[in-house]
Amino acid sequence: MQDIESFWQKVLEKLELRISSVSYTLWIQTIKPIEIDDKDNFIIATKSVSAKNQILKNFIDQISDCCFEVVGRPMKIVVLDQNEEIEYLQNNKIEDKNSFANEEKNPFVEKFTFDNFVVGKSNQFVYAAARTVAEHPGKRYNPLFIYGGVGLGKTHLLHSIGNYLREYSPELKIRYVTCEQFTNDYISSLYSPSKNKSIMEFRGKYRNLDVLMVDDIQFIARGKETQEEFFHTFNELILSNKQVIICSDRPPKDIPTLEDRLRSRFASGLIHDIQKPDIETRIAILHKKSQLEKYYAEDDVINFIADHVDTNIRELEGKLSEVYFLATLSGKKIATMEEVQDIFSNQREEIKNDLNPDKIISVVCDYFNISYQDIIGKKKNKEVVEPRMISIYLISELLNLPLVNIGKIFGGRDHTTIMHSRDKITQDLKTNKKIQVLVSDITNMLTSV
Ligand code: ADP
Ligand code: MG
Repeated sequence: MQDIESFWQKVLEKLELRISSVSYTLWIQTIKPIEIDDKDNFIIATKSVSAKNQILKNFIDQISDCCFEVVGRPMKIVVLDQNEEIEYLQNNKIEDKNSFANEEKNPFVEKFTFDNFVVGKSNQFVYAAARTVAEHPGKRYNPLFIYGGVGLGKTHLLHSIGNYLREYSPELKIRYVTCEQFTNDYISSLYSPSKNKSIMEFRGKYRNLDVLMVDDIQFIARGKETQEEFFHTFNELILSNKQVIICSDRPPKDIPTLEDRLRSRFASGLIHDIQKPDIETRIAILHKKSQLEKYYAEDDVINFIADHVDTNIRELEGKLSEVYFLATLSGKKIATMEEVQDIFSNQREEIKNDLNPDKIISVVCDYFNISYQDIIGKKKNKEVVEPRMISIYLISELLNLPLVNIGKIFGGRDHTTIMHSRDKITQDLKTNKKIQVLVSDITNMLTSV
């Protein structure tokens, strides 16, 4: 195969013809081709998790088609984000000077810094501990054990420590690995033909350090060998006052595969959690991301997203990038509530959780200023018939209730009557501006209650 860069150039030429120029510049040009492996997987890297998601969601088929056109055989496209790229390059021993992960040989994601980390109630304690450790490695909080749900900033903090140390203590030897990498590394040294030599190398690599960071320790295998090795690595580092930092999605007591002796060692340092961010922190994070990633959005947009996404920060960012992306598709430079409505109205599942027929009917009644009795009753004047049909439509669409049940709510109406109302609104929505506005207004009221 020709070299990867010229292959990718040919693919790019084809993609450029198929994809809008905004998306092309934003998502496609920023892709880095890594390699085509021996199983015909074409590995590409993106700048961030959200870029990866955009590619997977919107462009993967086009990329795959264009690759096919260039090489004449199907390839599987594997998309990596910046963390996965680091791992991939390390595991496959690929040197890539242009890599996003490897810029200036920095194994840490450049943007994952303390400065870019928004501090709020949910994470201030852990942030302070991480900072202390970065400023005085090996002196306090050793080990530092950080736990918390996915997407709450654990890896970001580890990389912040790494970036900080590289800048202020460049003489220190630092290693960041996921638990999986540590395990693979150890296993492959065990099964290497020159076993003794490679185990020595492994130990040199992991014990001759000033700072060791192990991410996602919850994946530690029950197997004796790796835990044994990790135990000794850990002890040796701690005893010589070298810093160890560990992250996990849960506290040590809830990692069933973890041996007791390791669990008790962890307890000798500081164990603390990161919690879900509160609304103020979510807003601050979105402002920060909007600035950093140039995902411009109006304040309303930011507030809306912060209000509606409270699961984790990765999703928060993902929503902002989706909304911004949609705005750029229609040539806008800044995302507005219009895109938010588009994106969030597709998320019926989420809305469903705290909606019920009564709530929908009350909101419709409020909107049209009619009474609950009238809307479910028998009156046939236009002022109540239209709102009635709209509520039936919304209950059916948003809650997926069987027509018979909806009929019961509306004073025992027959299911065919209910079906007729629902279908009438569905039809009207295609052509009738007034109905479109009514339904979208009411949906918005429902999703913001
Ligand atoms: P975890 O490792 O806990 O699963 P990550 O560290 O990968 O989570 O964080 C997910 C995303 O959220 C990253 O893009 C990260 O930059 C961002 N993030 C998390 N916490 C914060 C924060 N406090 N301020 C700014 N960005 C954050
Ligand atoms: Mg992580």
